[in-house]
Formats: sequence, structure tokens, C-alpha cells
Amino acid sequence: MFDSKAFKQQFPLFSHPENAGLVYLDNAATTQRPAVVIDAITDFYSRYNANTHRSSHRLARQATEMVERVRSQLQDFVNASRPEEVVFTRGATESLNIVANGLAQQLEAGDEIILSAAEHHANLVPWQILAQRCGAQLIFLPDLAGKPQLDKLSELLTKKTRVVAITAASNALGFKLPIDTVRAQLPADCQLVVDASQLLAHEMVDVQQLGCDYLVGSAHKFYGPTGVGFLYGRYQRLLQLPPWQGGGEMITRVQRDVSEYALPPHRFESGTSSLAALAGLSACLAFLASLDRPAMAAYEALLNRYLHTELEALTREMPIRLLSEYQSNVGVAAIVASDEQRITMTDLGVWLDEKDIAVRVGHHCAQPLMDDLGFGGSLRVSLAAYNDREDVDRLIEALKSFPDSLDGDRAVMAGADDLWSLDNLSVANLDDLRQQASWQKRYRQLTRWSQLLAAKPAIRIEANRVDGCESEVWMCHRQRDDKHQFLIDTDSRVIKGLAVLLLLFVNNKTAEDIAAIDFDEAFAQLGLEKYLSPSRANGFRALVDRVIEFVTA
Ligand code: PMP
Repeated sequence: MFDSKAFKQQFPLFSHPENAGLVYLDNAATTQRPAVVIDAITDFYSRYNANTHRSSHRLARQATEMVERVRSQLQDFVNASRPEEVVFTRGATESLNIVANGLAQQLEAGDEIILSAAEHHANLVPWQILAQRCGAQLIFLPDLAGKPQLDKLSELLTKKTRVVAITAASNALGFKLPIDTVRAQLPADCQLVVDASQLLAHEMVDVQQLGCDYLVGSAHKFYGPTGVGFLYGRYQRLLQLPPWQGGGEMITRVQRDVSEYALPPHRFESGTSSLAALAGLSACLAFLASLDRPAMAAYEALLNRYLHTELEALTREMPIRLLSEYQSNVGVAAIVASDEQRITMTDLGVWLDEKDIAVRVGHHCAQPLMDDLGFGGSLRVSLAAYNDREDVDRLIEALKSFPDSLDGDRAVMAGADDLWSLDNLSVANLDDLRQQASWQKRYRQLTRWSQLLAAKPAIRIEANRVDGCESEVWMCHRQRDDKHQFLIDTDSRVIKGLAVLLLLFVNNKTAEDIAAIDFDEAFAQLGLEKYLSPSRANGFRALVDRVIEFVTA
């Protein structure tokens, strides 16, 4: 039996007083780190910090030994046949770029690269760049409700197929793909590239069993440090790959005009690696090796089933839909609105954040997948082995308490001539907001205000779209004499409520009046400063910036 409570106790973040009420369900973005990893990083800096390879002193030897130890740990981690098949990188993104960039020499116009539309942008954009460089063609696997149909792969294979680059598990929907069935279908000269970023925290991976040519991962997604990851490459493949970046460490001899490159893996490791992160990764791999991974996976699968069952039950009470299924899934649940008039994922994400429940709302760097499914984004809940049923219960309880149905309907748009007189903000009063003592009350006040903004389908055009907002937001502007006027539309209630607040400050004001407003100060006084933070996912700041742009243009 896997003991999730004991596992969680090893992660200092959860016992920090600031995080006493935290429910962390954003593990697909990044996991937390156990104390052994954090300690190993401190230990490196406080005990044997030195650059590797270049010096002959004791500390440098120690650092070098540590680095080469991580290499063989990673070899074991993915069951590579020799340590030289492991290249240290900054993460999965860099690993994929090394491969795609390097294959430019091997591909020619008309060659085909097979991908799925469910790839993370990290396993799509580098191939797009490669295709543009060498005239290759990207071919996409057919899918069913977003899940690539690997059993249709053989129908896509031609004499021109040179690469199949595919995710082992989707970061947006969580499904696992049967990668072990792919190799047998491919001609020997077709290279198989596997993005295992989302799988490594949940399952043991064996590159020899998968028969892949390349496999990539990022340590921060399996309890290790950020800034470090790896590229596994079959040695014969790595030998054929040109260097990615030039510099120190990746050469054997440098002359004025030419250089000789080192053999793999050093050929791909120019400059100084993130040594402290590698020390952390070493501790992380030892930590994982000490765990009963099959028991851990079984625990996660049960918890994931519970999560999906509870969410499925909730779809009968709330206007939401579940896009993911728990079978063969790495612990990711994806929720979308089934009625966008009543609910948006942005609002739900804000609501959960207010209750200190960390989830992610957006397209999750899988825009083609979201486009195919017909959603701008989703709310993603992603599990790790330190989560438990209590976390799921807290999530469900918070979702249930979301103030969904509001009194009254949205105003219906009148003729376009009336567009500028549709919104009646005269009843909105800043004091109403000031008097709300808690965030729940302020949230409700904002959602009451949201009803003052009429729906304006006519302004929902590309030119009016405000980039940088998580939900779709449109704004237009006109000037009457020296007064500036604005129209805003969005489906998100929170953004609408905040838009009313913004309009109270700026609508029908002169450029001088608007320039004099200190938005940060004004929002802080209302206890709403965090909505203006540039790091805030809902991107309300973008709306404020657009107002300033209009006025100063
Ligand atoms: N692939 C997948 C499936 C991912 O989920 C991610 C990270 N979200 C990446 C690649 C890229 O990882 P990194 O940003 O650590 O390079």
C-alpha cells in the first residue's frame, strides 16, 4: 500500500504556515519538491560548489562526479542502454528543439513528420520550424474526441515518413497513449520521438521496451528542480545529430576556423549546466527509486477515478462538462462550460483560487487540440501522489458553492445605433464595493455589477479583441469632444464586474482625468489589487493597458 500522507510530509511547502489551507491540483504544470531535493541544492552550494570538468581541484572533481552520477541515475530511470545516451538539457522543450533542429540535415523536401493535434506546443512548434526550413510536411493522426487514434497510424505511413513525434500522455486531457505499439509499425529508418513529460511522475518508463529513438522529460514535472531535464537518444541516432549550440564543453579541439565536436552526450551540452539543479535531480531520482512505484501508480489511479466520478456527478448539478475520462489517464481532469451564458472557466478558476485551490484555466499550450474540441480552454485539475480524497472533496465542495445562477438575464443587444447607450452604470456605486468586508462579498458584488454590462455581439470582432486575457474579452473606444468612451464585452462574470469598475473610473473622462488615475492604488483600496497583477492569469491588466493605449494614441 502506498502511504500518501507520509509521502506528502516530505514536501515542506505543504507544512509552511502560508499554505495551511492550500489544495494543490496543478501538478501537470509543475509538481512540488520533497525536502531531499531542496536540501541537495543547498548542499551543492554550501559544500562543493565548483564548475565541472574544467579544473583539477577537489571541489571540481566532486561536482563532476555528481554530474556523471546523475547521468547514470537517469540511465536507470528510463532504462537507457548506456549513460552516453542521456543528454542534460534545460527541460523537455529544449530537448525537443535539439532533436527537431538536428534532423534538419537528415530531412528533405516532401519528407513527412507525423504528429498528433494533441501535442503540447513544445512538441509541435519545433517541428513546424523544421518543416518550414526543409520543406517537410506535417501529417496529423486522426483523433476521437481529441484522443489521437494510434491504431490508424499505419494508414498514414508512406515511404516519405521520417519521423513520428508523439506524446506519451496528454497534458490537457490526461490520456495515455500506447506508445509501445508504435515501433513495430514503423520502418527502421523512421525515427520515433516520445514526449514523456507528463508520464514520468506517474509511471516507470523503459525506452528499450518502447523502442523509441528519442524520449524527453522535465525534472520539475516529476518532483525535481526547474531548469533541468533530459534528452534520451539512441546512441547511433545521437551520433548522427549535429550540435545544437556552440561553446565550451561541446568540443574536443577548436581552431580559428573550425572545431571538432565532442561525442554525444557532451556535444549537446555547451556551456555550464545548471549544476545545483542537477544535484537536486540526483536526489530526486534517488527519492523516486526508493518508492514502490507500482503501488504509487495504483494509488494515483484510484484517486483519479474518485476525482472523475465526483466531477461526473457534478455535471448533473452544474453547467459543466467533463472532457477527460479516468481510464488510462495520468491524473488529469478537464472541465469546460456546457452553458457559457451561465458559467465560464475563468470565473470558476478565480473562485477556486479565492478558496486557495490551485488549478489551471486556459489552453494549456495545446491550442490545436482545444480548437478541434471547440473550446477556447478548459479548467484542468491535475493530481500527484501527495493528493488525497480530502483534496478532491475540498475541490468538489468549492465547485458546488460557486454562485452560478444570478437574478435576471443578461440584457439583450438592441440595434447597433444604441450600442453606446446600452450599458447603464448609473446604479453602480463604488461605496457598494467598499463596504463588502470579505472576498466572497466583493466577488458577489462584482457579479451583481456584471449584469449591468449588456451583451454586445456586434463588438466581438478580431480588431476589438484584448489579447492577454484568459477569457475572451472585446473592447472598443470612441471620443466625443474631449471625453473618452468605452464598450466592453466578455462572457466572464468576474471580468465583467471588474470592467464595470474600470468604466466607473474611465468612461466619459478626459485623457487628463484618466492619466491622473493610479489604478494600482485605486484597486488596492478596494481590496482588488491582485486582479491587476500582471502575473494574474485572468489578464484583467490587459484591459487597463488597452484603455491607456486608446487614450494616449
Ligand atoms: N510536453 C508536455 C506534454 C508538457 O506538459 C510540457 C510542460 N507543460 C512540456 C512538453 C514542456 O515542458 P517544459 O516547459 O518543462 O520544457
